[in-house]
Amino acid sequence: MSKIIASAAIRGAHKIAKEAEGILTKAISEKGEDCRVEFPNTGYYMPIIYSMTGMAVEKLSDFKEVMQEIKGLLPPHVNDDLWVPYLGHTLDAGMATLFAEEMIEACKYLIGPNPVDDIWLGAADDIILRERGIQFVDGTAPGFAAIVGAAPNVETAVEIARKLQERSLYVFMSGHNNGTTFSEQLAEGGVQLGWETRLIPFGREITSAIYALGFASRAALSFGGVQAGDFRRNLLYNKNRIFAFVMAMGEVTDEWYATAAGAINYGFPVIADSDIPEILPTGVCTYEHVVSNIPYDQIVEKAVEVRGLKVKITEIPIPVSVSPAFEGERIRKEEMHCEFGGQRTPAFEWLRMRDISEVEDANVEVIGPDSDSLEPGGRLPLGIIVEVAGRKMQPDFEPVLERQIHTFLNEAQGLWHMGQRDINWVRISKGAAKAGFTLEHIGKLLHAKLHDEYSSILDKVQVKIYTDEKQVEELRQQAQAVYTDRDARLAGMQDEDIDTFYSCTLCQSFAPNHVCVVSPERPGLCGAYSWLDCRAAFEITPSGPNQPIAKGSCVDPTIGQWDKVNEFVIKTSGGNIERMSQYSMIADPMTSCGCFECIAAVLPSTGGIMIVNREYSDMTPCGMKFSTLAGTVGGGQQTPGFIGHSKHYICSKKFIHAEGGIQRIVWMPKVLKEEIKDALSERIKEIGFEPEEFLAKIADETTATTEEEVLEFITKNEHPVATLEPMF
Ligand code: SF4
Ligand code: ZN
Repeated sequence: MSKIIASAAIRGAHKIAKEAEGILTKAISEKGEDCRVEFPNTGYYMPIIYSMTGMAVEKLSDFKEVMQEIKGLLPPHVNDDLWVPYLGHTLDAGMATLFAEEMIEACKYLIGPNPVDDIWLGAADDIILRERGIQFVDGTAPGFAAIVGAAPNVETAVEIARKLQERSLYVFMSGHNNGTTFSEQLAEGGVQLGWETRLIPFGREITSAIYALGFASRAALSFGGVQAGDFRRNLLYNKNRIFAFVMAMGEVTDEWYATAAGAINYGFPVIADSDIPEILPTGVCTYEHVVSNIPYDQIVEKAVEVRGLKVKITEIPIPVSVSPAFEGERIRKEEMHCEFGGQRTPAFEWLRMRDISEVEDANVEVIGPDSDSLEPGGRLPLGIIVEVAGRKMQPDFEPVLERQIHTFLNEAQGLWHMGQRDINWVRISKGAAKAGFTLEHIGKLLHAKLHDEYSSILDKVQVKIYTDEKQVEELRQQAQAVYTDRDARLAGMQDEDIDTFYSCTLCQSFAPNHVCVVSPERPGLCGAYSWLDCRAAFEITPSGPNQPIAKGSCVDPTIGQWDKVNEFVIKTSGGNIERMSQYSMIADPMTSCGCFECIAAVLPSTGGIMIVNREYSDMTPCGMKFSTLAGTVGGGQQTPGFIGHSKHYICSKKFIHAEGGIQRIVWMPKVLKEEIKDALSERIKEIGFEPEEFLAKIADETTATTEEEVLEFITKNEHPVATLEPMF
């Protein structure tokens, strides 16, 4: 343990603690002791302080107690007599620093400067945590690089970020080096920042590094089942599960040392470009604690090696990088070289099974002009036909594999895909076009990815890409007939017609008791798994998360319970859930994990329910926003009166069948109403109402924002819910 580092870290910790004390005093004098403190839309108090100590800071005065904790942790300044040759003091100083920094950032939300400003994002809210944190659990993201400071120039910054993205890592950025920040360097280099591209500009000051460590702590609490105050398990979870490291770029100040010491507590090592003393022996971290003097062109490889990260980079013969990190990248009009579909030109994508003799593996044909013949801003029609063959392939798998086209295309840097079937839309960026990317590479990409992920069922894959308008239109008609057929298969199916449902336990990785029971009339609550998809997925991976459940005999047809389904649920929930209803939100409702598209909640005084979709972030009539509701309902619990569900399920005949179905809906956001209007209108007709009239009786945010207003609105408009039996 280097004495120089210890003294610098301890010096830095004292400075930051002093700063925290100052800002706290100021905040209290401006806002008063009872002023609420929180990071917007989060339910974890101050996440580092809460997870480490169990202290739930709710108002400014609570910080006083935290200040005592900080003082208790702060070691005295180091001098020769006091110096001890182990990490303990430095680690304590690091933890004290993080608490103080969290205090500083929280006070900034109250008295400024606002942490959210310009490109700076500040704290991640709970929706982001759910969406992104899960990727750390399911392996889509191995971890994150916390970059502090700035690269020597824009090109180096862009290069380092690209390498980190290729390894699917998140890049959390904070701090500046003599006024220059890594985030601004990337922005200057034309790189898109934000959660979608995994490049997160937290803040300009070093104190904003706590947003990265706070994120890690919240992940441990919500996905790792760690209890608040159990600092040991929190740190172990992070050390073992989250592959994170700090990359310090530029002059390492005392404050940086202190913050880095905080990160070392989590087992996150520090890799520096500058010549600072190293801490090589392993102990807290998996390998070295601090490694310094690393040249820029090796810094990413070194970090990955030091943290012990194993990543699979598949070499695909196309001129751009491929990684899940590029999935969220958008291509705006100005950045676009050319586009296809999106209601601008005719387009479709269709995956079909062929006889093995009809497919020549790796054959990619572009029939018609390719994208390199286009001027910037150009457009072409696009028909993508993927033909696959394999001894284990079945026609039922076609839609499951076809849906992967979206993911696979988006994983290529500079390629963007939206929609599916004949409403697809593809863009190629200027950057990708400049690198030599053409339509032919879409074929190569699909060939490689399909083999990579579905080798168990596929032996051969060939891709034909059409750009001639007449040909595209003709082939599209054939494809449309197939889409219609596929839909008819599921649309005609009723739960009563079959004796096997399917389970999905994919979400048990973070909600251990949760089981989705998927039936033809009730898809998985994330909206991604229909009964047919689960059946196909089971056949593709028999030992996977989708298992057949023989229904057994019916216990109650109204609420939708079967004896064998209950048995299955008891077993797969580890004995925690005894009964589960397919069609009720009151009697033994299905558990909710965290990825539901919508939440339905009873509004008691109205006798009805409200539905809110994930995209709607404003307050709802039940007094909670989606994020807070999700926190209450999610996690794998049964919560009578609340269910998480897919959008599709709303228009199913079995939608809360036990409670009277869609006639219970008294409120939903306008966008949701619009989105499901067609399918919902069909259902409304089936139950004997006039769709326009019925829809107008359902309140939305423009007509009611509180439960009282909803009640007033539905009474005035004579909503049919008044004719139903009480719900309880
Ligand atoms: Fe599976 Fe349900 Fe999770 Fe969707 S929400 S992935 S269906 S367990
Ligand atoms: Zn889920």
